Amino acid sequence: MTAIEPPRAAGVPTVNTERPIPLGAPAPRRTRQGVVAWGDHRVTVGGSAPIRVQSMTNTDTADVIATAIQVKELAQAGSELVRITVNNDEAARAVPHIREQLDRMGVSVPLIGDFHFNGHRLLAEYPAMAQALSKYRINPGNVGRGEKKDRQFAQMVEAALRWGRPIRIGVNWGSLDPELLGQLMDDNARRPQPWDARQVMYEALITSALASAERAIEIGMAPENIVLSCKVSNAQDLIAVYQELARRCDYPLHLGLTEAGMGTKGTVASAAALAVLLQQGIGDTIRVSLTPQPGEPRTQEVVVALEILQALGLRAFVPSVTACPGCGRTTSTVFQELAKQIDDHLRAAMPIWRSRYPGVENLRLAVMGCIVNGPGESKHADIGISLPGTGEAPAAPVYVDGQKVATLRGERIAEEFRQIVEDYVARRFGSGAG
Ligand code: SF4
Repeated sequence: MTAIEPPRAAGVPTVNTERPIPLGAPAPRRTRQGVVAWGDHRVTVGGSAPIRVQSMTNTDTADVIATAIQVKELAQAGSELVRITVNNDEAARAVPHIREQLDRMGVSVPLIGDFHFNGHRLLAEYPAMAQALSKYRINPGNVGRGEKKDRQFAQMVEAALRWGRPIRIGVNWGSLDPELLGQLMDDNARRPQPWDARQVMYEALITSALASAERAIEIGMAPENIVLSCKVSNAQDLIAVYQELARRCDYPLHLGLTEAGMGTKGTVASAAALAVLLQQGIGDTIRVSLTPQPGEPRTQEVVVALEILQALGLRAFVPSVTACPGCGRTTSTVFQELAKQIDDHLRAAMPIWRSRYPGVENLRLAVMGCIVNGPGESKHADIGISLPGTGEAPAAPVYVDGQKVATLRGERIAEEFRQIVEDYVARRFGSGAG
């Protein structure tokens, strides 16, 4: 008979009395801190600043109204910086008008211009555009080839210096500098034991970002005005590249899985990759690059980014609702409907609550489906309700700050529970709260 191995390492005691288990907070990476500003509205990036959420429009930038509306929607959803592509003369001409529209609507979110092949020319020819943008994204793989590359890169950095704007040096494996990659491939071929081609690609991404940053500093850019990114579309590649990039520099890093994909796949891939890095303290700004499904709003990428940061406990944006998944013990949909109603209600209330009730985003609710975990989970939350499962008495105990305060029955459970939440929020987070 084969001996069954014990489930734990030999010599490790079952009960640990030696040391407390470390709290699950990421160790912050030390970075420089920069500022992206529009008027009085200043968004700090890096250093001790919160991890910032970015997004990018998918409207034609030349369409001033459509772009301004989408920027407003993204900002209202929680995007603290919004990037727009500036790809041609029409787009460059539109940028100051987009900014004016936003200012008129009271939307002060800083705009970032995304530049590629012709950015050096557009920045020189359209000063009103250069001035209306708060930051420039430069892709060193797309600034020109041969001797033009250094000159055009320098022209873009000089424009940023002229307007006092920070830059992001954003490398992307889909547009990696082919000369640099070719050179590193040749060097690799001469190694006695060549590296894997992916490892050479990692090195090319990082070298491109760091060498471009050094070049920008030589031209006069202050190091704190530089953010770096090296985007790839595979989670393991992203983790490997950013761990190494973080080890080699102290610039703030912008994280994101490029071309993450649609729907669940894109959401999960982004969450998986970003969570590993954020937990290691790597990442100062994030973007979730989702391909919108037909009919899905662009703001979904912002919602997912906020949820990733909130799920990791790195930031709080909206009150959280813990809901059990349901099982055979609760065959009705009452608790699913209540969980959704409460979640929708909280999100809808947040634009007003945010200013009226400071700190309300830290509120924790629980909506549970039966007595197995219902009372326990409800007591851990600020406010919890345990709905009756199949065969249980038709009563829903409500817990506030761990104490049972009411038992709801009948058709109006949802309204009564919502009222308890409203009263609690006003009492705890209102101006008279102690
Ligand atoms: S709380 Fe009850 S209904 Fe919800 S998953 Fe657990 S056992 Fe099932």
